[in-house]
Amino acid sequence: DQNLFGALRAAFPADLEQIAVEAATASGEPLLYTWRDLERASARIANLLDSLQIPEGSRIAVQVEKSVEAMILYLATLRAGYVFLPLNTAYQSAEIEYFVGNAEPAVVVCTPGNFGWVSKIAFSAGTQHVFTLGDDRTGSLLERAAHFGDAHQIVARKADDLAAILYTSGTTGRSKGAMLTHGNLLSNAQVLKDYWGWKPGDVLIHALPIFHVHGLFVAIHGALINGSKMIWLAKFEPRVAIAAMARATVFMGVPTLYVRMLAEPALTKAAASHMRLFISGSAPLLIETFKEWQERTGHTILERYGMSETIMLTSNPYAADARHGGQAERRGATVGFPLPGVGLRVVGDEGDELPVGEIGNIQVQGPNVFQGYWRMPEKTAEEFTADGWFKTGDVGKQDERGYVSIVGRSKDLIISGGYNVYPAEIEGYINELPGVAESALVGVPHSDFGEVGVAVVIPKPGAKLDGEAIIGQLKSQLANFKIPKRCFVATELPRNTMGKVQKNLLREQHKGLFA
Ligand code: ATP
Ligand code: MG
Repeated sequence: DQNLFGALRAAFPADLEQIAVEAATASGEPLLYTWRDLERASARIANLLDSLQIPEGSRIAVQVEKSVEAMILYLATLRAGYVFLPLNTAYQSAEIEYFVGNAEPAVVVCTPGNFGWVSKIAFSAGTQHVFTLGDDRTGSLLERAAHFGDAHQIVARKADDLAAILYTSGTTGRSKGAMLTHGNLLSNAQVLKDYWGWKPGDVLIHALPIFHVHGLFVAIHGALINGSKMIWLAKFEPRVAIAAMARATVFMGVPTLYVRMLAEPALTKAAASHMRLFISGSAPLLIETFKEWQERTGHTILERYGMSETIMLTSNPYAADARHGGQAERRGATVGFPLPGVGLRVVGDEGDELPVGEIGNIQVQGPNVFQGYWRMPEKTAEEFTADGWFKTGDVGKQDERGYVSIVGRSKDLIISGGYNVYPAEIEGYINELPGVAESALVGVPHSDFGEVGVAVVIPKPGAKLDGEAIIGQLKSQLANFKIPKRCFVATELPRNTMGKVQKNLLREQHKGLFA
């Protein structure tokens, strides 16, 4: 049997009375969940789902605030053999209408406050069952589940049975539902357990949203498959996260979380001395953040790369990697080596494999690669090569030592007067200039050059920047075709909830400049 929950359950400690989750609360007194609580509560909800007599393969769509019960609902869905479909809590009615219409879930779970409009959308899309779940253990889901027994036989699943549909972040366009199987998720969890050196006694600070690959899969599977306790933060508060480090060993975050913790004086070597590992991903980690973190805490952030369609693909080494000459160095501005079992190649636009060190399109293969986009067969066909490699849509290179770096997304690539401009390269130079906190370069239509780069630059607190002066400084360092034609100073970059810069919004905003 390949049920992912079965594998996670098998890793629970023998003593089920130990604490599995310690959830921070506003009062300061944490809510404690034992491993037995996770077992019983997930069994109850699984029994409730079973009682609904919904067809095999039914989707359970969930848009709720982060809570331990929401995680338990995920576990219950796995153990009952249905397909979990988490939705970003920021989505409003137009988005929910799209997702629910597209996924046709048999069950929808929403917050008590949203029941009115969500249930209307769900019922008109043919959904039979709508439950509510609040972040304080309220709502009809738990009320109904309380009538069911707390023993449940895990439903057998094959490796290629669907476990979840994860909608991509929608950074480059409309979100697509990536279909992930029990085998995809389990193989990746096992590889990461090993590669990141999880060990007895590890404690994870869980500070990420759980509707996305990072918080839902990498973090939760990581802790559970190691039988590790989680310190559960429903919302990321830099001070609370820093205070938790004294009792924890592993932290996972998107780059903005690291930036926000660095702004806290409480972040010191002493505060982080109990920690074993800091992991970053979902968006590029600025080299400056990487270095500052090293100086402040003495820890080197381990950056890794993945996506909804593939879960994790590459990682900097935690310990010496025998496949790469025993290299153990975590190198900033790289995403490390392809994980064991993951094939990665860099190809040109014609699909030709490129020499080491050259920039091109990243393609991957492995047991972690998804089954396709939900109800988008043409899109799925487009994104796989004839020989079965998945086109990630990311552009990057792999150096002679094996380290992969991402230079941007193919959709963000700028072709100016026939030359390729890689946004990450130019942004790297801009970010080095005095007073610059961060920047984004986007391509906008231009009557002569086809496209030209436009930069949006964010100053450091208190710094004054001038767009023309920045362009002047770049001119002495870079070829002319790489120089942004305009440079705007702004107060912040548009980001989505995963901290990803929404370049499509910037392109839209500036598209008329030279047209
Ligand atoms: P959509 O596919 O809908 O446009 P998305 O690609 O942002 O949205 P996700 O699957 O959530 O949706 O994100 C995966 C992407 O995040 C990767 O393809 C890559 O571009 C980016 N990413 C993840 N980790 C890193 C990293 N460490 N460095 C740079 N980029 C990263
Ligand atoms: Mg994507």
